[in-house]
Amino acid sequence: MSITVAKFGGTSLCDAQQFRKVRDIILSDPSRRFIVASAPGKRFDADEKITDLLLKCHAAAVVGASFEAPFRQIRERFHEIIRALGIAFPLDQEMEALRQRLKRDPQADYAASRGEYLSARILASYLGFTFVDPEWCVCFDASGKLDLPMTRRTMSAALRPLENAVIAGFYGADMNGRIRTLSRGGSDVTGSLAAAAIQADLYENWTDVSGLLATDPRIVESAKTVQYVTYRELRTLSYMGASVLHTDAVMPVSDLDIPINIRNTNRPEAPGTIIVRRLPKGEKKDPIIGVAGRKGMSVIQVEKVMVSDESGFTAILLDMLKTRQLPFEQCLTGIDTVTLVIRSDLLAPCKAELFDEIRRVLSPDYLGLTENLSMIAVVGECGTESSDANAKVLAALARAGLPINTINQGAGKLNLLIGVPEEKYEEAIRAIYYTIDEEA
Ligand code: ASP
Repeated sequence: MSITVAKFGGTSLCDAQQFRKVRDIILSDPSRRFIVASAPGKRFDADEKITDLLLKCHAAAVVGASFEAPFRQIRERFHEIIRALGIAFPLDQEMEALRQRLKRDPQADYAASRGEYLSARILASYLGFTFVDPEWCVCFDASGKLDLPMTRRTMSAALRPLENAVIAGFYGADMNGRIRTLSRGGSDVTGSLAAAAIQADLYENWTDVSGLLATDPRIVESAKTVQYVTYRELRTLSYMGASVLHTDAVMPVSDLDIPINIRNTNRPEAPGTIIVRRLPKGEKKDPIIGVAGRKGMSVIQVEKVMVSDESGFTAILLDMLKTRQLPFEQCLTGIDTVTLVIRSDLLAPCKAELFDEIRRVLSPDYLGLTENLSMIAVVGECGTESSDANAKVLAALARAGLPINTINQGAGKLNLLIGVPEEKYEEAIRAIYYTIDEEA
């Protein structure tokens, strides 16, 4: 029988009613044997996540202040869930252990991890599944970096003998037994690690949206859900700001070709988005699957006649960035120009000094800086391969009277990157989205 690892995020486990929905989803499909749980998240906009409340307790504890108020809120929320679900759970004992630990040895990662620990234990007890503490199978090295090969082996050994289990997300431990957390939203990564360890057929990631949207819904309200997206496309969209899954969650499963299905706990009937390496036979996907972007970019333009004949010119320029540990987003070279796209916040502290060095060492004919730009990525593994798709996107911008500062498409043709002034960003996204939506 096939095996599904299902991860439920914070909004899917924010109160007892959500726990009930989660149980229905799990029990409706016997392949859902390995479950990864987040800590209870926000129930409404102004609410606080359990993880944030735990971090508040820790912040107070390290300075020897009282953490009673957030501590009480945490206890209340778990108490309410346990009471409404009608399960027996030693909450008072667990909370007392946490209180003592916060007083004796307040460590941020330990404190933050207790949300997932309690949530997963409660869910395991509600489902009658085995609880698996990632303290024993998600392994970090002494510097706090996740040890992927070791985790794969240890987790596989922990999960294989089990019929079913609930694993707490977001944390593990290093070889000294010290609890370490992943970065925020890291339960997505735990789900992916579990799916890889057990060589699951599918990794379901249950959240509060019905999948990945083709663009930012704050800009295009009617943005539609993408049915299929490749790992590479998702990586680009996430980098450009679309957020549906933790970026580190892709690699463990993509290596093994395990598809990820983003699903909505509040609309379980919706098929969601499936993230794959290659499309299943017979399935078709939109050639351009989405458009995303980022503001806060700067463009440096270095011009020198015959620069293309001067060997090492670009290398010297890039070396100047390297010595300052300044990453660049894009490097475009022309006949007499080199153009660099750099994040403005990273450029700001060394701008004057860098420009001085470029003038001194490279003696350009012209050195220009354009600030307040945004970069838009039109993403699609096969869409941007045809010049037709590119032409349509650029024509849409021209029709809307929008200026274009830079255009970049590498040989990989995964995406077309377009630089437009920041104040035209939303307009440009809309113009491109409506064109690709017509196409689909
Ligand atoms: N509870 C953690 C957070 O709020 C991890 C997670 O939900 O994935 O970031």
